[in-house]
Amino acid sequence: MESSGRPGQNMAGDHGGGDMEFGPEHDQLRQVIRQLVEREINPYVDAWEEARRLPAHELFKKFGEVGAFGLEYDAAYGGGGVDHSFTVVVAEEIGRVDAGGVSTTLSVQAAMATPALARFGSDELKRNYLEPALTGDMVCSVAVSEAGAGSDVASISTRARREGGDWVINGRKMWITNGAQADWICLLARTSDEGGYRGMSLILVPTAVHGFSVGRTIEKMGNYCSDTAELVLDDVRVPVSHTIGEVGHGFQMQMAQFQDERLYISYMAAAGARRALERTIEYLQVREAFGKPLIANQYLQYTLAEAVAEVELLQGFLHHTAEKVVRGENVTREATIAKLKVGRLTRMVGDLCVQYHGGMGYAEEAWPARYARDSRLTAIAGGADEVMLRVLSLMEGMNKR
Ligand SMILES: Cc1cc2nc3c(=O)[nH]c(=O)nc-3n(C[C@H](O)[C@H](O)[C@H](O)COP(=O)(O)OP(=O)(O)OC[C@H]3O[C@@H](n4cnc5c(N)ncnc54)[C@H](O)[C@@H]3O)c2cc1C
Repeated sequence: MESSGRPGQNMAGDHGGGDMEFGPEHDQLRQVIRQLVEREINPYVDAWEEARRLPAHELFKKFGEVGAFGLEYDAAYGGGGVDHSFTVVVAEEIGRVDAGGVSTTLSVQAAMATPALARFGSDELKRNYLEPALTGDMVCSVAVSEAGAGSDVASISTRARREGGDWVINGRKMWITNGAQADWICLLARTSDEGGYRGMSLILVPTAVHGFSVGRTIEKMGNYCSDTAELVLDDVRVPVSHTIGEVGHGFQMQMAQFQDERLYISYMAAAGARRALERTIEYLQVREAFGKPLIANQYLQYTLAEAVAEVELLQGFLHHTAEKVVRGENVTREATIAKLKVGRLTRMVGDLCVQYHGGMGYAEEAWPARYARDSRLTAIAGGADEVMLRVLSLMEGMNKR
C-alpha cells in the first residue's frame, strides 16, 4: 500500500483536519479494520470483560492476517512497508472498539512492545520474534514499570548481570499489559552500575524460560478484559544476543519507543472520544424529557458542540503531527502535547457522556460507564499528564534541573 497523495476522503466517523491526506487505500484499510472490529470484537467484549481476559492469541491472529500490526516495519520481517499515515488509520479504528481493554492490548502489540525491536533488533531477533508478533502468532509486552518506578523510569532496579554469553536477570515488573499471555517481553533492565538513565539495556526475554513467572494479575477500575500483570524474573537466563540494539542504550531506545506509544494512544483516544460524543448525541435525539428530545436543550447542544470542537482540533493536530512523522521530522514535542491534551479531553468527554445519559450513564448495561472508566487510563499510562507537563516545561526552558 502506498499513500495516493490525493485529497482526503474521510469515512464517516473520522473527522479532523490537519494536513494529513487520506486516499482510497486508507479508506479501504479503515473499512477492513472497522469490519473486523464489528465482526470479531464488539459482539464478544461483554463476555471478555466479565472474564477479565480476552483471547489474545486468537484475536491477534485475526489482526495479523489483515496486516494491522507493524504497518511501517520492514516487509522482509512481515511488516507493511508503508508510511505512518496507515498506522493512524488503524489506531483510530482500534480506538472505536466497544471496550478500551481491547484497544489497550492491541496497541501494545502494534506500537509499544515492537518499535525498538523493529528499529534496532538483530536479524535473528526480528526473524524469531518480530515476524511472529506481526502475524499474531506471538503475543508480546513491554516491561518498563516497576512497583517503585513508573513515572521516573531512570530509577528502575531490575538488573541483568553478564555471565559469559548470557544475561542473568533478576527483578519484578509491574503493570505489564498482556503480561499474563505474552510469549516474549521487551524488558528494560540495568546492565551496569552507572545509575540514573545510564547503563540500561533493552532485552528480549521469551517468557517460556526458567525463572520467569507471572506473580499476579491486577484488578483494575477499568480496561477489565486487558490483562495487567506483575512479572517476576528470578535468575532468568537469556543469551546476550537477545539485547535489542546496543548494550547500555536501553533508556534512549525506550524513550523513542514511548513516543510511538504516546502517538498511538493519542490517535486511538481521540477517535474513541469522537465516537463517544456521536453516540451521546444520537441518544439525546431520541431520549425525551419535558415533552421534547433532550437534544433540544441548547445547554446540551453547546457543551457537546464545544467538546466536538476540541476533539476535532486535537485530531487536526494529530494528523499534522503524523504528516511530520511521514516526512521524518522529530515530533517529541507534538507527541507530548497530544498525549497531555488527549488525557485531559477523554476525562472530560467520559464525564459528559455519563452525565447526559442520566441513570443509564451510571448503569453497567449501557456503554458510557465502561467508556468513562476505560478512557480514564489515558491520562496515566504511557506517561501521566504531569509527566507530559514536565517534559514540556523542560522543553520550554522553565526547569533546567
Ligand atoms: C492499566 C495499566 C497498564 C499499564 N501497562 C504498562 C505496560 O504495559 N508496561 C509498562 O511498563 N507499564 C505499564 N503501565 C504503567 C504506567 O505506565 C505507569 O502506571 C505510569 O507511568 C505512572 O507511573 P506510576 O504508576 O508509578 O505512578 P507514579 O510515578 O507513582 O506517579 C503518581 C502520580 O504522581 C504524579 N506525578 C508523577 N511524576 C510527577 C512529576 N514529575 N511532577 C508532578 N506530578 C508527578 C502523576 O499524577 C502520577 O500519576 C500500566 C499502567 C496501568 C494502570
